[in-house]
Amino acid sequence: MEKIKMTTPLVEMDGDEMTRILWKMIKEQLLAPFVDLKTEYYDLGLACRNETNDQVTVDSANATKKYGVAVKCATITPNAARVEEYDLKEMWKSPNGTIRAILDGTVFRTPIKVKGIEPCVKNWKKPITIARHAYGDVYKNVEIKIPGAGKAELVFTAADGTKTKETIFEFEGSGVVQGQHNVDASIESFARSCFNYALDIKQDLWFATKDTISKKYDHTFKDIFQEIYDAEYKERFEKAGITYFYTLIDDAVARVMKSAGGFIWACKNYDGDVMSDMISSACGSLAMMTSVLVSPEGYYEYEAAHGTVQRHYYNHLKGEETSTNSVATIFAWTGALRKRGELDGLADLQQFADNLEKACVETIESGRMTKDLALITDLEHPTVLSSEGFIRAIREQLQKKYE
Ligand code: NAP
Ligand code: MG
Repeated sequence: MEKIKMTTPLVEMDGDEMTRILWKMIKEQLLAPFVDLKTEYYDLGLACRNETNDQVTVDSANATKKYGVAVKCATITPNAARVEEYDLKEMWKSPNGTIRAILDGTVFRTPIKVKGIEPCVKNWKKPITIARHAYGDVYKNVEIKIPGAGKAELVFTAADGTKTKETIFEFEGSGVVQGQHNVDASIESFARSCFNYALDIKQDLWFATKDTISKKYDHTFKDIFQEIYDAEYKERFEKAGITYFYTLIDDAVARVMKSAGGFIWACKNYDGDVMSDMISSACGSLAMMTSVLVSPEGYYEYEAAHGTVQRHYYNHLKGEETSTNSVATIFAWTGALRKRGELDGLADLQQFADNLEKACVETIESGRMTKDLALITDLEHPTVLSSEGFIRAIREQLQKKYE
């Protein structure tokens, strides 16, 4: 067949360990034979980040601003052990953190549904996407342990010196106190990323806080979402046939459990931290979870939700056969290629992304899968494949669609 053409390059961010091995196999086996792949390559592997003093990460994020769409492999976030293992000049920051700081986006995580790997919650017929606000609240708090009796106060000193003061509590004995903050600009860009993504995938958007109790803090989140929705998105939502729905967080949890899924659930930072782990574990495996960073300006960076699968990599280095699931990494590529196809008006590229995703799902549904899925599937007698064997099986399934 003639290869599918691309017009604008994808920003390709290579990564580390087992996912770097999968990355190469996916490109060679599943992409290059079908697509005349155009990418601008950035090596975010730890060795290259160290060599370039992490400039390569910054460059890759800036390239994403230039081209609009990136696909990222999982990368090591260095800790003390990694500094030694890779002889690092410094304990470089998390690449995801650096990229997010430059693109200022929100991360959307969605489980990949296949028959035979069913969520624990039986009525979840469609995936639920979690959007987590990634700034402030308890993650940037200040805390004091109160030793004994005394008064705790909340004081704001304006630039002109004016003070606003509230008593938090008159302590009679020991206790604790905490201060949290957020900024309107960050809440606004969170809201815009959520509204944009809902329009993009044509699903309803839910948002919830505890505004009845937190009448200023949480209420600000509620108000900002509503103001931006009314001013900028209401008409577009109506046209797309989707809705924006706000409720209290406890009501949202109750409704989510009883829902059929198929919507985006926007969460404040803490709620998103907790609820995304609930959704992903209820759906089986981190290796079946996609993740996309969407900036308020409409830049997209696609990746897998899991890490570099270090344990499997060490087995691979010892020459042992691995059975690492490549689905989330493949879906990072299909997400990016589909978006590129949409932006550039390339129907056959979008079709290819659909076909490759279908090939993954059909392979698993036919009983051929990696070990992590074989352990949780309802299918009887699954065939456990190696990392490479699984990709080869997907290749055969994909090939059939182009014969
Ligand atoms: P991990 O790579 O997600 O793996 C944790 C465990 O989950 C694995 O040992 C494996 O379990 C299972 N697993 C994850 N992905 C799998 C897959 N595709 N197929 C099969 N099993 C899979 O997390 P980690 O071991 O905590 O972190 C390793 C490195 O990844 C760290 O250096 C961390 O900094 C980095 N990380 C990067 C990102 C990112 O780039 N977005 C995210 C998280 C972590 P079994 O061992 O039981 O088989
Ligand atoms: Mg967490």
